Amino acid sequence: MEALDVHENNENFKEHSPLSETRSSDLDPSTSQTAKRKFAEIETNNSPQDTKLFKTEKFWDFSLESDVVVMEGAPCIFLPPIPEVEFFRFNLVKQMRDEYQDICKQNEGIDAPQESFNRWLLERKITDKGTDPILPTACCNDVSPAMFREIIHDVPIRISKIKSCSDARRQLFRYGEAAKHMIESRNLSLESRKVVKWHIEDTLSWLRKEQNAVLTDYLNRLAHIRRQCGPHLVEAARFSVENICKKMYFIAQENAKKLLDKHHAVLRLYKIDVPAPLQPSGKLCPVKPVPMLCATPMLTNSITQVAIKGTVSLTYNANTLRINHRYLEKLEQLYRCSCKDDPTMQLFLPRVWCLLRRYQTFFGPNQYEGIMLHGALPTQVFQCLHDTFGVTMECFASPLNCFYKHYSSAFADTDTYFGSSGPILQFFPVRGSFEANAPFVEELMEAMVDHFEKLLKQSNEPLSFIVFVPEWRDPTPVALLRMENSAFKRKQVLIPAFEHEYRSGLHHAAPQKEVYHKAVHGTLIFFLQNDPGFELWGPTQQRLRKLITAFKPVARHHNRQQD
Ligand code: SAH
Repeated sequence: MEALDVHENNENFKEHSPLSETRSSDLDPSTSQTAKRKFAEIETNNSPQDTKLFKTEKFWDFSLESDVVVMEGAPCIFLPPIPEVEFFRFNLVKQMRDEYQDICKQNEGIDAPQESFNRWLLERKITDKGTDPILPTACCNDVSPAMFREIIHDVPIRISKIKSCSDARRQLFRYGEAAKHMIESRNLSLESRKVVKWHIEDTLSWLRKEQNAVLTDYLNRLAHIRRQCGPHLVEAARFSVENICKKMYFIAQENAKKLLDKHHAVLRLYKIDVPAPLQPSGKLCPVKPVPMLCATPMLTNSITQVAIKGTVSLTYNANTLRINHRYLEKLEQLYRCSCKDDPTMQLFLPRVWCLLRRYQTFFGPNQYEGIMLHGALPTQVFQCLHDTFGVTMECFASPLNCFYKHYSSAFADTDTYFGSSGPILQFFPVRGSFEANAPFVEELMEAMVDHFEKLLKQSNEPLSFIVFVPEWRDPTPVALLRMENSAFKRKQVLIPAFEHEYRSGLHHAAPQKEVYHKAVHGTLIFFLQNDPGFELWGPTQQRLRKLITAFKPVARHHNRQQD
């Protein structure tokens, strides 16, 4: 079961190594993974021919039936989505994003690290047992390791991408100044103060003397001062950064209470009782959408719909959300296959509006925000995974980006009507072949590996997870190390950077030309399988070749031309 690189063009691989790309673009050897999490280029250069091909590409295939068998879980305890409540949630979360920025500025003098709020939400949900689908209220600890790590990484300043010698010089100065300010204003031991002070003075005097230093000198100097002072500054900032994490968690709890009260009030108006939670039945059954505990009120349709040039605008209470027409049709197809409580489709538009509102609330309101948290594999890869490895389900998806009609997703409450089996960590398959492309959040990826290994250990039925992760090596994330050393690993394969693409997470609303983006990192594919899974869907050379071919962008265009 040793790692096998079936890639046939190793020369090319060396040239475009994701590591060399990361280093040359970031130019800072000590910058952590988090800051480097740029995974795809935003600009694309699609030709008119590509745009034509887009129109014929099959972005989902709901004709593929699933043979997945699961241990039935408990019905979803979240209350049913209602536009009024979802709108309120959107406003509260928007406010929280601003509060987070303000607290980071006030406490640490830094901007909130980009996307760290989103990764915080994803990380918190790993252990949360609370009442709100987005906001964490009952986690096993108050201080999120993801949020802590990302803020502390930017203390005393965020080192941004270094573009030139003068830029490096300026950032080195700023670092020294900020570190100096920190030792003057924070509690540090005498020894730490001495060490930091010495390094700052040494650096500043080097800067004064060295007028002809080259870029590498500056970079080495920057790496050196961060290595020497970093641990002392982290200790100095620990208490205050932990407080930021606690404060955000506290605000989330307060807001979740407000949301729950509002939800109950609306349900009371419709005379709907909230049943007590049920235990999982533990029965084995074919995969199906997660059932809701509480019924949805028959809302009068409060959503207006306007179609303009392939896009549909859905408005509730002057709040408009847009979706490409094809994607609204996709949601309708999913709804018709999965939803059992709304034969007249009366709730369809309110539920679509809530779904769109939810994902935008979750990933952030700005253009391209959250884009790296829901990028999808190319469609021909999904097709190949089905044809070659019997895959019928995605472990990480949404109704908007799923390829198969069965999938796990972050939000059982908004997504179940569109086929979701709920969050992956609360989903217990015993048989089936799965694709997993998790959002790039280290803690979630690690929890995923734990979960898959437990499932593989427990089942005597064929079970297989084909996992796609970015090839980060500086340092290697725990999840990746765990899979490399897993007893269930049958093979690992690298698809080199720049030789494959991802589909935008905003595909459902983005202009057509922004669908595919080149991956600037390598993608590692792990085959985690139990023995019966290996027998049925094992990664033979022939199958792997098909998968690698499916990743080639040229092949995608070629296939689409044939459609
Ligand atoms: N389905 C596509 C895109 C994956 S992007 C593919 O497999 O290539 C990752 C997706 O995981 C996002 O849509 C995100 O909303 C979803 N997600 C986040 N947390 C999740 C969880 N706990 N369980 C299942 N899906 C989750």
